[in-house]
Amino acid sequence: MRVILVNPRGFCAGVHMAIDVVDQLLDLCPNDEVYVYHEIVHNRHIVDRFVNRGVTFVEALDDVPENSVVVFSAHGVSPRVREIASERNLTAIDATCPLVTKVHMEAIRYAYQGYRILLIGHASHQEIVGTRGEAPDAMTVVESPEDVADLDFTKDTKLAYLTQTTLSTDDAAVIIKAIKDRFPWVKEPPHDDICYATTNRQGAVRILAKDCDLCLVVGSRNSSNSLRLTEIAEYAGCTAKLIDDVSELDPAWLEGKQRVLVTAGASAPEDLVAELVKRLVTQHNAQIEVSDITDEDIEFDIPATLKRMMRTHGVDPTERRIHITRPDITEELYGSVPLTISVGA
Ligand code: SF4
Repeated sequence: MRVILVNPRGFCAGVHMAIDVVDQLLDLCPNDEVYVYHEIVHNRHIVDRFVNRGVTFVEALDDVPENSVVVFSAHGVSPRVREIASERNLTAIDATCPLVTKVHMEAIRYAYQGYRILLIGHASHQEIVGTRGEAPDAMTVVESPEDVADLDFTKDTKLAYLTQTTLSTDDAAVIIKAIKDRFPWVKEPPHDDICYATTNRQGAVRILAKDCDLCLVVGSRNSSNSLRLTEIAEYAGCTAKLIDDVSELDPAWLEGKQRVLVTAGASAPEDLVAELVKRLVTQHNAQIEVSDITDEDIEFDIPATLKRMMRTHGVDPTERRIHITRPDITEELYGSVPLTISVGA
């Protein structure tokens, strides 16, 4: 059995930054409670590891004692959440991914200019809840082409659309087409809102899955971009399974399979991919082939509030800066398991 290990996979720049924020805070304030509003990123293992280090995750700011430190997750929050944090005198460290913030800014600008905004995405996803909160009266969430059919705007309505950053590029294209067909005067966002990491991970699976007979995606079920990777593989005719970690691998899935694609959602840590790959090698006689589709070199800086806190504690933020490396097969993660690796596109 050949296993194709996809690059890029796993952590994106936004997830790296958000996790780094909580890491740095734990180092900085070892005796203080650290609170995080919502899951810092949508991955069960990441959240559990932080819980084990003493972090408290909350779904409401009322659960954070006044004057505490709270981190906003990578998915972003609405202005009302920021107001509540201020009312409760919380020190808020905003780990929102800058690419989500960009969509917030577009929403604010369109609303200010008098546009009705069609926000394409999943209504209950935290990113959409946060973006919608920037201009709730101007915003209509659109989840499917069917939703577009229910809309009724006249030609004198200034109309624009925005999208969630982690949608399937294929699904978004279908909805955008439905919007443009029905409202040809709709204004497009200046730049594609679906982020580089989502686009690259999906693009790699789209290219490779058509030649594979199973795709294993490491990621949690509430991770939008991980779910989308399984859908892209399925669209390409490849059976896909989303697993949180190797314990969920069912050996029956591998029976008769010749080529297995392995990838990971943007919030899934590489050590979980390594555990899966090691199991495939040691128990299923897999030969590993690394397939590089797209290079990534994007990094995001930590928030200014955290930098100020670091300086107050005598820590130079520039010295603690983490540089992102691609998820290479390192000795540290993959150990001494004999891997037969060939690199191909
Ligand atoms: S998936 Fe994209 S938008 Fe979401 S955190 Fe990563 S880079 Fe940012």
